[in-house]
Amino acid sequence: MRPTRARIDLARLRGNAALAAARAPTSRLMAVIKADGYGHGAVAAARALEASADAFAVATLDEAAALRDAGIEAPLLLLEGPFEPADLVEAQARDLTVNITGPEQLAWLEAARLPGPLRCWLKLDTGMHRLGLDPADARDAWERLAACAHALPEVACTHFARAEELDRPETGEQLERFLAATRGLPLALSAANSPAVLARPDTHLDWIRPGYLLYGDTPLPRNHPAGDGLLPVMQFESAVIAVREIPAGDAVGYGGSWVAGRPSRIATVAAGYADGYPRTTASGTAVLVNGQRAPLAGRVSMDMITVDVTDLAPVQVGDPVRLWGDDLPVGEVAEGSGTTGYELLAGMPARTPREYTG
Ligand SMILES: *Cc1c(COP(=O)(O)O)cnc(C)c1O
Repeated sequence: MRPTRARIDLARLRGNAALAAARAPTSRLMAVIKADGYGHGAVAAARALEASADAFAVATLDEAAALRDAGIEAPLLLLEGPFEPADLVEAQARDLTVNITGPEQLAWLEAARLPGPLRCWLKLDTGMHRLGLDPADARDAWERLAACAHALPEVACTHFARAEELDRPETGEQLERFLAATRGLPLALSAANSPAVLARPDTHLDWIRPGYLLYGDTPLPRNHPAGDGLLPVMQFESAVIAVREIPAGDAVGYGGSWVAGRPSRIATVAAGYADGYPRTTASGTAVLVNGQRAPLAGRVSMDMITVDVTDLAPVQVGDPVRLWGDDLPVGEVAEGSGTTGYELLAGMPARTPREYTG
């Protein structure tokens, strides 16, 4: 058996959700499980969080349908709203909540012929400039929703562009615009993503919407104490499948990008970019071999990586390797390839088996 796998501890997922809930004790919790639960398995995540989350959020109708087919009955928001008018019919039939994200979506909803009510959120663009109605149109949009017999408007929401950058003014400015635009409307309010849940209590409002933090890594600068207590849900693990000694001056891997500066011991590990370890990861990025940090040496291959274990106690075939998880946050590994832990988790391929505990 190939030793490469993602071990997923659902008890930790619940623990991280409890931490988020404790940070925002008067808010309701919408657990964001788009992109297959950030690579952890959306159905498994939803089942694990059914008792702790008040609602779930996904990006697409397909993701929502898979959860409904698996028996998840909790409120379920389509964050990106309908992509075409027919989506509203499907959403209503599956008892989903749609985000009304622009004037087109609002018009589609008004024109829809639905056999029953459809719950909706109203999204306002307060500065991210991706989705959402102009805040100046919030009252008019709400009045149109209120006048629409089959629409059940529940929440006004917005999304922050820079909430993890704690010293910048934009999050506060977005919040002010949001509060001003929604003042007096009989709607609950939602703004906070993971960094805002952890570091901006003023943004918690009626509903928090964390995703990334649920999976156990901090979206804040790594040394910021607001991330303390989160535990990685995924352990991306493999094992050493070969060890060799090479002389100083020899290169390792495709393109010879890493050259031994001294006689070196190289361990080959059975995980590569087809397993979810990014090909762009730089030599020097930490890998845990027998629980000890050792630097990646040479280019990531499709099914393997090579690690410089010269400074470690002797390494043997079969020794355990962790690519990320405890003692090696996914966000730190992501820095070695110029991306974020979000992308690494969301990009975990189906090839890597998920093993669940908790
Ligand atoms: C993905 C997403 C979230 C969750 O963001 P995290 O940073 O993962 O917590 C919240 N709201 C919206 C609209 C999103 O698209």
